[in-house]
Amino acid sequence: MIAGPCSVESREQLRAVALALTEMPEVSMVRCGVWKPRTRPGGFEGLGEPALRWMVDIAQELAQDGKTIEFACEVARQEHVELVLKYGLKCVWIGARTTASPFMVQELTEALRGTDLTVLVKNAPSPDVRLWMGAIERCRQVGMKEVMAVHRGFDVFKNGGYRNHPLWEVPIELRRAMPEVPIITDPSHIAGRRELLEEVAQSALDLGFDGLMIEVHPHPEEALTDGQQQVTPNGLKELLGSLTFRQTESVVADEELRLLRSRIDRIDDQLLRLLASRLEVSEKIAQVKARDNLAVFQPKRWDSLLQQRLSEAIDLGLEQEFVKEIFEKIHAESVRVQMNAKG
Ligand code: PEP
Ligand code: MN
Repeated sequence: MIAGPCSVESREQLRAVALALTEMPEVSMVRCGVWKPRTRPGGFEGLGEPALRWMVDIAQELAQDGKTIEFACEVARQEHVELVLKYGLKCVWIGARTTASPFMVQELTEALRGTDLTVLVKNAPSPDVRLWMGAIERCRQVGMKEVMAVHRGFDVFKNGGYRNHPLWEVPIELRRAMPEVPIITDPSHIAGRRELLEEVAQSALDLGFDGLMIEVHPHPEEALTDGQQQVTPNGLKELLGSLTFRQTESVVADEELRLLRSRIDRIDDQLLRLLASRLEVSEKIAQVKARDNLAVFQPKRWDSLLQQRLSEAIDLGLEQEFVKEIFEKIHAESVRVQMNAKG
C-alpha cells in the first residue's frame, strides 16, 4: 500500500500526512509529487528540491520516535534522479506521460543506471501495453533490480465516467506477458473522484493485483492538484476498512472450483473449434465471391448479421457491447482470411 499527497505543497502538509500514515500498518510507502507534469502550462508544477529536504527532516523526526518512513516521488529527468539520490530516497516512479515517450524513458533509465532505486512504472495514457512493457524493459536493461508496474488507467474517448478508464484487460495482459512484475493499482487517477475509489480499489483486489497507490491529503478540498480524488488520512482508513482483501492463489484445493474450471476449459475448447470451422467457411466464401466477382466486404450483409447477433444476445441475456466487440473481431478476422484466400 502506497499512499500520500498528489503533490507536496508545504512542509506542514507533508508532515501531517506522513505522521498520519505512519500510524497505519498497511501503508509501506508515502508517495508525494515533487515535480508535477502538467498537461497544460500555468498550473502548480511542484516545489522541487525543498520538498526533498522536508522528507529527510520528517523521516529524521519520526526516527526519533522509533518510526520509519519511506518516501517516493516521480522522476522525469536526469536532474530529478540526481536530487532524489542526494536526499536518499529509495523509490521513484516514472509518470504516465514519460512512459509514453521511449526517448524520455531511455534518457531517464540512463540516469538510473547503477543506482539501487526501486522503480515504479506507470502505464502510458494510451492503452498500449507495449509502451508499458517497453519502459519496464528499459529499466531492466540498465540493471534495475526492483521494478514494479502501476496501473493508473487510460485516456480513452469513452471514459465510462472514470477520469482514466481502467481497461482491466491491459494490466491483465501485462500480468500474462510479465508474470514476475508486481502490479500496483492507482485507483485515485483511475477514478478521478473520491466516490469512485472504493469500487476501483475493490475491482483491483478482486482481480488479484498486488497493491494500491492512493492519494491522501490533509485537506483535499484545498489541494493544489487533484483535489477531487484525494482523501483525508481518515478517509483512507475508512476505505481500507470497507475493502475485502483476496487471496491471489487458492491455498486450499476447492473441489467445486476445480470442476467449474474444467467446465470452462471444455467450453473454451468448443469455442476455439467453432471459430476454426467458421473461418474455414469464410475461406470457401472467398472463393465464391471471387468467382462471382464480388467485393470481399459486404456492408449490408455485415450490418444485418450484426443486428441479428445483437438481438439474439438480448434473448440470451448477454451484454450487447460485449457481443458487438466479439463479432467485430470475428468479422475482421474473416475479412482478413478472405483477403488472403482470394490470393
Ligand atoms: C501522479 O501520480 O501524481 C501523476 C501525475 O500520475 P500520472 O503520471 O499517472 O498521471
Ligand atoms: Mn495526482
